Amino acid sequence: MKENPKDALLRIDMEAGRLIKEGFLGEDERPISDIISADLDTLTELEVSHVELARAMRRLTRRGMEGMGEVVDAGDYLVKSEEYMGWLGCPFKDNRRAAKRNTQAVDKQTGREMRWSDLSIHLIEQHAFFQGKGSAFRLEPAELASFLRLPAPEGAAE
Ligand SMILES: [Zn+2]
Repeated sequence: MKENPKDALLRIDMEAGRLIKEGFLGEDERPISDIISADLDTLTELEVSHVELARAMRRLTRRGMEGMGEVVDAGDYLVKSEEYMGWLGCPFKDNRRAAKRNTQAVDKQTGREMRWSDLSIHLIEQHAFFQGKGSAFRLEPAELASFLRLPAPEGAAE
């Protein structure tokens, strides 16, 4: 797909050193709309939505926040959320900003660990944007879904 001018401007803001030091794209050279649609295809195959993933991430972050920087036991996971001064603006220019907060979650059964920021939750929930390949903050949709145990097996409602 050819990159439209709006996407091209978005790409500039997502490069390293603009909004955040490391940027959002890694070495991914695909148009942003292609990155998003490829990840949406993965989610369609998995039968899970980016909104469900973001909500599960936010639930864990909220649990982590209760620990005020200490590790919290959140059922299947141990969670720690750390907050820093300031805010990060959304690169999609929707006037949304996210607290500078990082969450680290460890699956108690497997020992697997994943990390995300509040901005990552927003990017996934509102923009289905999991960041570019090679970005330090990219979350692979399939890995994230399996880590979050989504989609939940049918009949597993708590
Ligand atoms: Zn946004």
